[in-house]
Amino acid sequence: RQRVVSGMQPSGDSLHLGNYLGALVNWVKSQDEHDAFFFIPDLHAITVPQDPAELRARTRKTAAQYIAGGIDVEKSTLFVQSHVPEHAQLAWVLNCITGFGEASRMTQFKDKSAKGGQEAASVGLFTYPVLMAADILLYQPHGVPVGDDQRQHVELARDLAQRFNHRYGKAFTVPQALIQKEGARIYDLQNPTSKMSKSASSPNGLINILDDSKTVTKRIKSAVTDTDTVIAHDRANKPGVTNLLEILSTLTETPIPDLVAGYEGKMYGHLKVDVAEAVVARIEPIRTRTLELLDDPAELDRLLARGAEKAREVASATLADVYDKVGFLPLA
Ligand code: ATP
Ligand code: MG
Repeated sequence: RQRVVSGMQPSGDSLHLGNYLGALVNWVKSQDEHDAFFFIPDLHAITVPQDPAELRARTRKTAAQYIAGGIDVEKSTLFVQSHVPEHAQLAWVLNCITGFGEASRMTQFKDKSAKGGQEAASVGLFTYPVLMAADILLYQPHGVPVGDDQRQHVELARDLAQRFNHRYGKAFTVPQALIQKEGARIYDLQNPTSKMSKSASSPNGLINILDDSKTVTKRIKSAVTDTDTVIAHDRANKPGVTNLLEILSTLTETPIPDLVAGYEGKMYGHLKVDVAEAVVARIEPIRTRTLELLDDPAELDRLLARGAEKAREVASATLADVYDKVGFLPLA
């Protein structure tokens, strides 16, 4: 099994249906084929201001949702980034072989700092891609599954790996960017031409996987459709109906044409009832399991501690080699 590393942001208070169907479902599938390392990047999170209590709560809540959603801690290694100090330690070494100009060319910093002005942006935000390179290189992975927007960062990780290997002797595998096929893309229920998003959707446009079944059903029943009555897959003219069909198709693994054929002569209400039932059937057990996990934070923390321990077995070996190669005096 080839090794892959993936970071998963502590995503607000709850994952939404888009995060679940577009991302988490794929991670869950990938753990059967790969030796997967999944981590919650809390060190990255503080590159912008965070409320401490909230960050801690979100980190737990996110981990609970990943486990409840199907990340199997026996198959995969799930851990919190700050629990593995080697991330910060390797990042320092890599900072020292990264050119200032090279870091300045990272477009995400330019985008993110453009909002508040570069003066206000932290040095942490500037050096974020170097920490990300450390996240990857510590685990000697064959590949890094990322969205297209992360391609430049993986390229930097590759450059730094090659530079280090060339300058000091081989310490790192040079990883490949595994640009992911687009997962299912879910749209806002109230505004079905924009994607469902934590920050941009109104509450009624969102389905959170921690919502109760009543709320989920209500939101789907009030999803925006159109004044026509035909159930058809037509993204341009029927974005609302199309979104509902796609949600149902993804959840039931039924091809869209089969669904459409089954709805001939039926009304939007029928489709909505079926979508609501399918969504509830899928997320209700996840919600219940998440709440159970959060009810016993000590047990959850133990699972994360085990993950950190497994991660450190690999990370500490890489870091020891790096420290040795750069010429640090070993601790007697
Ligand atoms: P934000 O509004 O803060 O950007 P978001 O809702 O877009 O939040 P992210 O944290 O950016 O969520 O994304 C987490 C993961 O979920 C990513 O892999 C992203 O591609 C996926 N994702 C986010 N929104 C959707 C969506 N509507 N449909 C499918 N996948 C999505
Ligand atoms: Mg986003």
